[in-house]
Amino acid sequence: MHRRILAPGALAAASLLLAIPASAASSAPGAPGIGDPYYPAYGNGGYDVSHYDLRLRYQPATDRLEGTTTLLARTTEDLSRFNLDFLLDVSEVRVNGAKASFTTSGEHELEITPKTPLAKGTAVTVVVRYSGVPSTKEAYGFNAWLRTPDGGVAAGEPEGAWWWFPSNDHPLDKATFDVSVQVPDGHQAISNGTLQSTSSRAGWTRYNWRSNKPQTTYLATLAVGRFDVTTGTSESGIPVINAYSKDLGDSDGAARASVERTGEVADWLTEYFGPYPYNALGGYVPNTPQVGYALETQTRPFYSPRQFANGSNVSVVVHELAHQWYGDEVSVEHWKDIWINEGFARYAQWLWSEHEGEGTTQEIADYVYASRPADDPFWTVKPGDPGPENQFHISVYDRGALAVQALRNEVGDAAFFAILKGWPTEYAHGNASVGDFQRYAEEVSGQPLAGLFDTWLFQPVKPAAPAARSASIAAVPGVPEQPKSWKKIAATNDVHEH
Ligand SMILES: [Zn+2]
Repeated sequence: MHRRILAPGALAAASLLLAIPASAASSAPGAPGIGDPYYPAYGNGGYDVSHYDLRLRYQPATDRLEGTTTLLARTTEDLSRFNLDFLLDVSEVRVNGAKASFTTSGEHELEITPKTPLAKGTAVTVVVRYSGVPSTKEAYGFNAWLRTPDGGVAAGEPEGAWWWFPSNDHPLDKATFDVSVQVPDGHQAISNGTLQSTSSRAGWTRYNWRSNKPQTTYLATLAVGRFDVTTGTSESGIPVINAYSKDLGDSDGAARASVERTGEVADWLTEYFGPYPYNALGGYVPNTPQVGYALETQTRPFYSPRQFANGSNVSVVVHELAHQWYGDEVSVEHWKDIWINEGFARYAQWLWSEHEGEGTTQEIADYVYASRPADDPFWTVKPGDPGPENQFHISVYDRGALAVQALRNEVGDAAFFAILKGWPTEYAHGNASVGDFQRYAEEVSGQPLAGLFDTWLFQPVKPAAPAARSASIAAVPGVPEQPKSWKKIAATNDVHEH
């Protein structure tokens, strides 16, 4: 959410000088993409959303979703037309109360032409009325909506929003959310944030969820199904709401033994990352056997039951909760900055390993470096700019966390932990790039770090022995013993499999 300040006087003066609205002469269509080099069509140009209000109804038996989304936005250009990203069937669009014309284009664009052009800096209310069956809608040949035996789930990265609400679908445009969903009695609707209220009427129950801090569109989630919902409070006082599908079968116990530790893990992470940024905590495990990943949906991560198929897995909870600071509170500027998310969520798993006495971060870093020979394609992926096809490659995680350990060894523990804790506050509820992180680390440590970042994040080769020695990585020759936590952490490797 990057708001701009409008100079109202300038706009008023322009309007007086011209007989027609100031915008009409110069207005042009907003761009169909926000300008992300990996995904040129994602997000849109010309406006910033500050709030989404979703009022939906979902029928699990038919997978039919219908309702209205209201967006509060402000234009950043003179606009004759603008786009939203969306796949369901739209029946009506209103812009500032007046019916607007609309059409679809590209893979997921909804093009909206308001009755009158919109001047730069104008507050805009957009109401989109729609319906559809999300499981039948594809873009680029895929569908991220997860159908379950008792409902459906929206949890995908980078694509997730298109199947349930129209949006400016890119992390650069964060907004607050109210998500209100009506489902048949006996089902629950789970989303982000706090549950403000529920109400029942004529066989339907409405769940009203609120995210009162800026949230990116891919971190908004919806799960409808038959859940067992548990509630509690972390020791530090954050309310926790977890939800487990009632048909998790043999994985039910392991899922609960992991996700019920959410409050404990979040409190533990505050020692490293600073105060928890939100007013709600939790996690949910729907019956989605078709995928194996987990996702850091804001305040309430999604966990596929496969994460718990071999027993409890607190490491994946550590990973997704670490993202609440690294990824959610501070989000990527562009998708190429994914190391900011995954390198640090993976490093948090290494810190947890050390905490559990199953291998120190140094031991795991040494193991990653030594166990991957120089000709392993692992080293050809640059975590600092992996390319869209490798955005969630294992290198972004393991080489990414190795780079974090190299940084720690270079600047020393005092500066390193100051960086780790200071970063989320420095860019709280905003966006940042890998370059921003380097600058911040240099500022806090007082050391030039361009060479270190280049070697560990941006070269498509294994850092050579002298570079490793100078970063105190794998100081002892040979491949060290596999750390005890290794297999457990590796079991979370498909956290973002597409
Ligand atoms: Zn992750």
